[in-house]
Amino acid sequence: MSGVRTPVEAPVEVDGLLEVAGLVVDLPGARGPVRVVDRVTFDIPPATTVGLIGESGSGKTMTANAVIGLLPEGAATGGELRWRGEDLLRASPARRRRLRGHEIAMIFQDPLAALNPTQTIARQVGEILRRAGRPRDEVRRRVLELLERAGIPEPAGRMRSYPHEFSGGMRQRAMIALALAGSPALLLADEPTTALDVTVQARILRLLRSIQQDEGLAMLLVSHDLRVVAHVAHQVVVMYAGRVAERGPTAAVLARPAHPYTRALVDSVPAVRTRTALAHPLPGTPATPANRPPGCAFHPRCPLARERCRTEEPEPRTVAPGRWAACHFAEELLQR
Ligand code: SF4
Repeated sequence: MSGVRTPVEAPVEVDGLLEVAGLVVDLPGARGPVRVVDRVTFDIPPATTVGLIGESGSGKTMTANAVIGLLPEGAATGGELRWRGEDLLRASPARRRRLRGHEIAMIFQDPLAALNPTQTIARQVGEILRRAGRPRDEVRRRVLELLERAGIPEPAGRMRSYPHEFSGGMRQRAMIALALAGSPALLLADEPTTALDVTVQARILRLLRSIQQDEGLAMLLVSHDLRVVAHVAHQVVVMYAGRVAERGPTAAVLARPAHPYTRALVDSVPAVRTRTALAHPLPGTPATPANRPPGCAFHPRCPLARERCRTEEPEPRTVAPGRWAACHFAEELLQR
């Protein structure tokens, strides 16, 4: 993918379809539980794409896994995950299974691992429809429509193909068709283009963006790549060491970050902000939830760190209309 498109305009904000409120995820560790997601709060309004961005270990994938209900065994959760007002963290496993694939569907990074190698693409895409008792003709018609919608050329001739007969990009399109089969209201996409080459990445992102707009879906896009988020997301949530560093409308956040970590991310990708001519690699190594420095977790890497940052953890707060940041000096940064 070359450069970055202008971030899309956010639609008029309405009540959240999904509200993540103070979400906590603890995983078992050798020396006791490790908090990998720490009081994460954001919401996803209908027909809106939210980008969840951060380096490895930031907690973004674990947050998405909590939403879809696929956390590792032994994980303990806290806070709330409200889906149309229903708290998913207190829902039964049967209720979570019913929601998965129907109301909330997931596109994985590696479709080869997610697709069944022993079944044809059509069989897998049609599975959810067959289980719903749809007649055979209707299933076939709908599978064809879905493959076509996902941009698979000559879908009728491809229905009997197996995943290994598809290229990486085609498999990701098949995965998208499968995710759409249950007519979900929310699509979770975890690094959906990371395994693809640059040209195919751009095509898949255009496809996701057009599906989101045409079908009026909400989407949670997890990515380590700021260019991907800038291309597709209306809102962005920046995570660092398991916590939210900053969130707000994508265009505003990327044009004028309120958190030094967001600014470092933006400056590491020259095409994201036109005034940045050169890429400045992110300094230092990311803090991990198991190895969180005291005070602000970003302070060992932060060029603006002061004494207070080493001892006092900043709480997320409103720093401008529609903008939140967890930095003691966010207002100063916004005025630069
Ligand atoms: Fe940097 Fe201090 Fe803000 Fe943390 S609180 S991001 S160390 S300025």
